[in-house]
Amino acid sequence: MGTSGVLRSRPAQGVLLELGLSSGPDSAGSSGVHPSSSRRDDGDLAMRETMRAVVFCGEGAWRIESHPTPQLRTEDEVLLKVERASICGTDLHILSVPPGHPATPGTILGHEYVATVVEVGSGVRHLRPGDRVVVDPNITCGICEYCRLGFSNMCENMTTLGIFRHGGLAEWSVAPAKAVHKISSQVPLDRATLAEPFSCVLHSFERSAFVPGESVAILGAGPIGLMFLMLYKAAGAYPICVVEPVKFRRHMAESLGADAALDPSAHDVLREIKGRTRLGADIVIDAVGTLLPEALWLVRRGGRIVLFGMNVHAER
Ligand SMILES: [Zn+2]
Ligand SMILES: [Zn+2]
Repeated sequence: MGTSGVLRSRPAQGVLLELGLSSGPDSAGSSGVHPSSSRRDDGDLAMRETMRAVVFCGEGAWRIESHPTPQLRTEDEVLLKVERASICGTDLHILSVPPGHPATPGTILGHEYVATVVEVGSGVRHLRPGDRVVVDPNITCGICEYCRLGFSNMCENMTTLGIFRHGGLAEWSVAPAKAVHKISSQVPLDRATLAEPFSCVLHSFERSAFVPGESVAILGAGPIGLMFLMLYKAAGAYPICVVEPVKFRRHMAESLGADAALDPSAHDVLREIKGRTRLGADIVIDAVGTLLPEALWLVRRGGRIVLFGMNVHAER
């Protein structure tokens, strides 16, 4: 497959990509098989020497190009056939000019993906070819002081698939076995690919020490804000007030059960939320990344604020 020209347009947030196999000049070859590994090798999963991949080409640039199909290098890795991958806000930050997040040029992007295990290294015991998995893209060392304190999210040697190492916006991907999690084959692909961002939302939810019946204000109704909404709704929050300037997203929030979807350009948000909660919200979520001052106004005394978003370019 030839390479397309360098694309400088930004991909739309939330778009799901599927890089299916197609027959073409690349499809005739087959690659070597790791000698001491277990692999399933049939029809749709047949390997080729090259694959299509979305590659980060340096500041503001990416392209879909032909890339060598990855192979296992160590006994604790797995080879994955990517089923579906999604585009994260972080990908947009990586591709913005100037970049809002670092990444290694030449890396295959994509850190939110669902895949089928095709081959496992000889040291892998908990996975088999054919297993369906989601990927935890943050690869931690397990031995630095932070890892040993139990804060692997602060690992001093962390690297990330799809940002600093090849990721899942490709037909195939190699990942450490410890980074993949088996899931049911019943979970629809479009949902399964959101496991990584949802796990971050769930972690924040747990840290917010929520008690059923508490009130929640969610600032920003993008995919992350909406996930928070669904989670707090299912957990019994009331009322849940969403603040979002984009009409489409406000409607989405209402359809997902928000008790109020407020347009900050048309509403006195502080008054609206105090009117519904009297003291202020028990929990305020900043799902934008720049709204700590607003969160401090909206939260009740002794309440909790979740700072979820990261947005170094946001204008205030
Ligand atoms: Zn992400
Ligand atoms: Zn570490």
